Amino acid sequence: MVSESREETALPGLSSSSSDEELLRAQYQVLRTIGQGSFGHVKLAKHLLTDALVAVKVLKKQDNPFITSEVDIMKSVDHPNVVKLFHVMETDERVYLVMEYPGGGDLLRHVLQVLKLQEEEARPVFRQIVSAMHYCHESGIAHRDLKLENVLLDTRGTVKVCDFGLGTRVMLGEELDSACGTLPFWAPELFQHQGYDGHKVDVWSLGVLLYCMVVGYLPFRAWTWGKLRKQVLSGRCRIPPHVSPELQNLFTQLLAVDPERRPTLEQVLGHPWLRQMEPVSPRPSRTPPQQPDASIIKVMTYLGYDPQEVRDALLGRTFNAAMGTYLILLQQREQGGYGPSHHGRRPLPGPPPCPSPAVASSTVLPKTVSAPACHPATCPPAKRARPEDCRKCSKFASAPCIPISPFTRSAEREMGPTAAEPLLPSGQASSLTTAPAGDHNQGWRNMKRRTVKCLRRLCCCCCPLAKRRSARTASPGRGEDRTRNLEPS
Ligand code: ADP
Ligand code: MG
Repeated sequence: MVSESREETALPGLSSSSSDEELLRAQYQVLRTIGQGSFGHVKLAKHLLTDALVAVKVLKKQDNPFITSEVDIMKSVDHPNVVKLFHVMETDERVYLVMEYPGGGDLLRHVLQVLKLQEEEARPVFRQIVSAMHYCHESGIAHRDLKLENVLLDTRGTVKVCDFGLGTRVMLGEELDSACGTLPFWAPELFQHQGYDGHKVDVWSLGVLLYCMVVGYLPFRAWTWGKLRKQVLSGRCRIPPHVSPELQNLFTQLLAVDPERRPTLEQVLGHPWLRQMEPVSPRPSRTPPQQPDASIIKVMTYLGYDPQEVRDALLGRTFNAAMGTYLILLQQREQGGYGPSHHGRRPLPGPPPCPSPAVASSTVLPKTVSAPACHPATCPPAKRARPEDCRKCSKFASAPCIPISPFTRSAEREMGPTAAEPLLPSGQASSLTTAPAGDHNQGWRNMKRRTVKCLRRLCCCCCPLAKRRSARTASPGRGEDRTRNLEPS
């Protein structure tokens, strides 16, 4: 497992409640913040009993009515390409989700670094994402916020889909009516104030995500809400000449404006572009093993746990400290880093133990993500050395679920259906798009703040359906970018 050396002394977002902090510190040493999404912080922490690095998502109950659904989904999923939940802690104000820490950063960071992926590189990554989402769809779960930031990589290039914050359970044929997700990844039906099929919306987002990976910018990007909506509804987007015919065909299918024409993920897995490689993921173990692993129980006994307590926790799927420790040990063993000699005994109940000395080796990252760098086009020159800034300025916020009608009406009144305010400032039209030089001069921070504010408002806003124009297909010249009508005839 990877290790880190710095410890975070104060926990941003936790300072208001020291008892919350104590609960966490009793079992984990918090090292630093590794992610900040729309609904909470994610911390890197060390599990004190096993020295394993874990990610802790801190969710404030007050701001987030979707916690129950996120926790419920995380508890139920079990797939090698979905991030694993170990332990859930709850206080009056917060919920802590202790999860596996893959250690290779997220896909946005990776794509920003390499600008775009070759098709051969993108294929295994995309296949694993589709495999994870196929499993989720088969289990009746829609993610609704698939994007590069929500796909993590481990140090061996294995993909882990995360963030089920907007995930929901759906029954076959059920129509959802809450518009949510991240605007540039929104399917056309979300712009149309329609009820929608959660699985089909995921398929569209996967098309946008795949496009970002191999092209290096978003397929649909515009300065205003109205223009973005028009682009998405037109079903037309630019396909650069380097894209292979098989992949073009896959884009055509995934980004079909009519949701009925979009393939299921079973069909996507059978597409010729993805069939050009052998499946990499082992089949998920859907049912937990009947008997807990005896050698892990032995280690846990050594750590001070009562074996029956562990068995009960596993049987009841309580995701308490005992189950968390078991799952962490199981994962450590699978990764070859397991051994009882590493472990100290479980601290007796009482005040939180002093943090143990930080582990002293550097984080091991895959070659492709080891040297963080900013996208030259999305970061101001003065900031290029700092990947965190690059991520912040290039990131899109997820919008919470909004029942379509009432909210959108007021948003329209406030902004107008084609708000004059740009969707993003010049050069920031997408998280990955190329910005013209000279756009990063003054007021950068203000612009960023305004952008995020504007996006948050826009993400929650829908407009009356614009009259769809018939999509024209430009006949491309050799070597030129093409604009393709992605709506199958
Ligand atoms: P939000 O719902 O607020 O978007 P996420 O669950 O997506 O929260 O977490 C925010 C960011 O934190 C992610 O984009 C990712 O970079 C990072 N992150 C989330 N979970 C993990 C994890 N298990 N391991 C490593 N990084 C993570
Ligand atoms: Mg997220």
